[in-house]
Amino acid sequence: MNTRRQRLRRLLLAAFFLVLPITLNYYSPYLMLSGTAEGIASFSLVFWLGVFITSLVLGRSFCGWACPFNGLQQLWESVGIRPLRTIRGLPIVKYALWTAWVAGLGAALASAGLWSRFDALYLTEHGVSLTEAGNLITYFMLVGLTLAPAALGRRGFCRYLCPFGVWGIVGERLGHALRIPRLMLRATPDACNACGKCTRACPMQLPVAEMASSGKMRTTECFMCETCVDVCPRSALGVGFGRAR
Ligand code: SF4
Ligand code: SF4
Repeated sequence: MNTRRQRLRRLLLAAFFLVLPITLNYYSPYLMLSGTAEGIASFSLVFWLGVFITSLVLGRSFCGWACPFNGLQQLWESVGIRPLRTIRGLPIVKYALWTAWVAGLGAALASAGLWSRFDALYLTEHGVSLTEAGNLITYFMLVGLTLAPAALGRRGFCRYLCPFGVWGIVGERLGHALRIPRLMLRATPDACNACGKCTRACPMQLPVAEMASSGKMRTTECFMCETCVDVCPRSALGVGFGRAR
């Protein structure tokens, strides 16, 4: 599978990871919370709210197409891919981290009130994130934290630890509940011959062939990379905008 779409997606992911030394602060939960505690809306606040709002319509496309941590895992997996070990209960870690993040935001808002100004470069000198040793340590800790779950298999970080992706998961669920027309995978079960290529290709290690044969393609762990669509030799999978039934 090496379609133009997948080449573009892989290129984007790698690029977003490579510029992370500059952009790290723009994703920072810490800056979101400390800015809010001072009445300042940082770039990361606007960014993650933007991810949440767009996920109402685009699902987890941010994770699949633009997340630097997905880019890092993709580069790592070009060395070798291990199947994901399923550990029941472990995904709760990412939900717990996200809940703590949102609770922290609520506490900061309660103490400082609503934001009084927007500062895109809040605590980010000249717009560059890695300018001193302290930031460098944070950067390498994040890289280590992203790659450590690779010991559990492919996209272990996305599946078990990543609180960033939960913004997209919550948005996708809300979009589904509100029946907002949104980007979704579609399957034509009659066209599927159960070859399993989609399951083997799925970066998130989802049972795509089973999903295709049942016609039920919705899962919160899908990050809309469309790899399965591109790999299917029988055009049994597709993607398009629609409303939940
Ligand atoms: S790749 Fe296509 S034909 Fe093969 S199992 Fe998946 S959906 Fe079915
Ligand atoms: S199910 Fe398809 S679109 Fe979703 S993550 Fe897997 S390969 Fe990507």
